[in-house]
Amino acid sequence: MRLAVRGIPTPDADQLRRGGPDANGQAALRRRAEGQGNPCRHCLDLIAEGDDKLVLSYRPFAGPQPYAETGPVFLHAAGCERYDADALPAWFGFMAQALVRGYDAHDWIVYETGRVVAGRELEAACRSILENEAVAYVHIRSKFNCFQCRVERG
Ligand SMILES: [Zn+2]
Repeated sequence: MRLAVRGIPTPDADQLRRGGPDANGQAALRRRAEGQGNPCRHCLDLIAEGDDKLVLSYRPFAGPQPYAETGPVFLHAAGCERYDADALPAWFGFMAQALVRGYDAHDWIVYETGRVVAGRELEAACRSILENEAVAYVHIRSKFNCFQCRVERG
């Protein structure tokens, strides 16, 4: 099975960079990236220490509904290129723990798919969950429950 891994849509990132409202209706905060743990959800790369990042609330679903979790994410404050590939970013393999779960075509969690795995096991977990025909797509989240990216069948 081929995977399709993408960052958040470019129009979402663009409107947030222009000061548009985040999922809580507020403009993103601008902060300097410190340390190595600042993933951008558009390019799915790590924001270099010292570069500016946006901190905002993001809801990775088309609209509000009971399963539409909302949480904090970072974006490069400056423009970047959307991640669009058939594999996870290599650095995901270094995550100590990640949450992964499948959603159905109505954006509800498919409960039996929820797992906590080591980063190096993420891709296999995504493939395994996507074998379930009830699953439309998978979300990967950090151990802090911050949305990382969406994975679909390629
Ligand atoms: Zn970026």
